[in-house]
Amino acid sequence: MNQNERFVKKLTTKSTDFSRWYIEVIRKAELADYAPMKGMMVIKPYGYAVWENIQGLLDRRIKQTGHQNAYFPLFIPESFLQKETEHLEGFSPEVAWVTHGGMEELEERLAVRPTSEAIIGNMYSKWINSWRDLPVLINQWANIVRWEKVTRPFLRTTEFLWQEGHTAHETYEQAQKETLMILSLYKEFVETELAISVISGKKSEREKFAGALETYAIEALMSDGKALQMGTSHNLGQHFSKVFNIRFEDRNQNLQYVWQTSWGVSTRLVGALIMAHGDDSGLIFPPRLAPVQVILVPISIGKWKEEVLPVIQKVKTNLEEKGIRTKLDDRPEFTPGWKFSEWEMRGVPLRIEVGPRDIKNNQALLVRRDTMEKETRSLDSIKEEVTGFLDEIQKSMFEKSVQFQKENTHQVGDYEEFKEVMQAKRGFIKTFWCGNTACEETIKEETMATIRVIVLKSEDSHPSGKCILCQKKADNLVYFAKAY
Ligand SMILES: [Zn+2]
Repeated sequence: MNQNERFVKKLTTKSTDFSRWYIEVIRKAELADYAPMKGMMVIKPYGYAVWENIQGLLDRRIKQTGHQNAYFPLFIPESFLQKETEHLEGFSPEVAWVTHGGMEELEERLAVRPTSEAIIGNMYSKWINSWRDLPVLINQWANIVRWEKVTRPFLRTTEFLWQEGHTAHETYEQAQKETLMILSLYKEFVETELAISVISGKKSEREKFAGALETYAIEALMSDGKALQMGTSHNLGQHFSKVFNIRFEDRNQNLQYVWQTSWGVSTRLVGALIMAHGDDSGLIFPPRLAPVQVILVPISIGKWKEEVLPVIQKVKTNLEEKGIRTKLDDRPEFTPGWKFSEWEMRGVPLRIEVGPRDIKNNQALLVRRDTMEKETRSLDSIKEEVTGFLDEIQKSMFEKSVQFQKENTHQVGDYEEFKEVMQAKRGFIKTFWCGNTACEETIKEETMATIRVIVLKSEDSHPSGKCILCQKKADNLVYFAKAY
């Protein structure tokens, strides 16, 4: 058995045990490691580089739509959270409390932020006085702590990183417009940059954010057929503005409460990238987010150091001039085969191999990570062609994701078939629901499937049908799935 085989064999296959595959990939690809404290993870440099790329591309979109970044405190006084019972009840099982400062017990406990509506609401009540102060469009990049019982790296950890937007507006319509604008911004971002096809829509009452008027979300199917919520956008109405007394003098000199929104995506997106695209050889990163877009591997035989290395170094320089993120793996202690497996594991979209024979033929071998297809290219034209290659990989990864979602979105005739499909195939079931929470809960108890989103009428005008469970008239076209 050569080194190459050993390296690959250590990875559990997805079909054998998806959860184990997920954890193994994260550790072998060095995205993250478990921290000594239960439920916490260390994001390693390679994983953090993915997050930084996500941040950069999303931050640009957040700013382009008129928002500014700010930073609010990590600690929130207990009395702030207590002002809002629905919100507090929603989060209290997960809140971490600071009770002491040094040796002294605090007069009032401080919550480590589980989300920032309360602290930001308090500040907005001071900053907003007139309609001229509106809208307030602020985003914060921060860490969040929620004391979770069951955790999994990137998907659910006690501490995680996210962005949270918090806006205030004069009218309900403006807040609603913002909520839906962000929902479509998230959808476009995930589809363009993460190459993952998502569905979007409204959450049911049962699934909505504690304290929100309406919650909207984007969701995607992971390759095990379970859905992952990837981003949420909430229309908070005047709920928090009434609690935190955020009032403004309107254009007719009347005092009004502001209309608010909040919205966020988190390091969970890294988990989505792993689960949506990875295969039995490891990660597959879409080029636009990959920390390394092109790995250059010299075939280390014969006089490779003298003949191959200078040529491949030149290729690297040329690609970097084009703004392509590259890495040259010239470690002499590893065989090319070992290196291939390692960079496949780490999901690098494109590999370029150059050996002594290639130098004679003035060519290089290009290997795509997503399809493993190999193509030979002239060394003279390679720098012009790589950008096109990466675009093609990005495009075909997204097309594959669209196709996967299509093939795994099922229509069912009745509830018996619903149960069978959810049991045997998973995926999305697109069907009608009457709007009654009792039906939703029965379906969850019996099948473990929940309503992921209610399709927006504006996006997909559809006739009404019959509720999949109770058979009563139903206006809501919904996606059901088992979810993370
Ligand atoms: Zn029903």
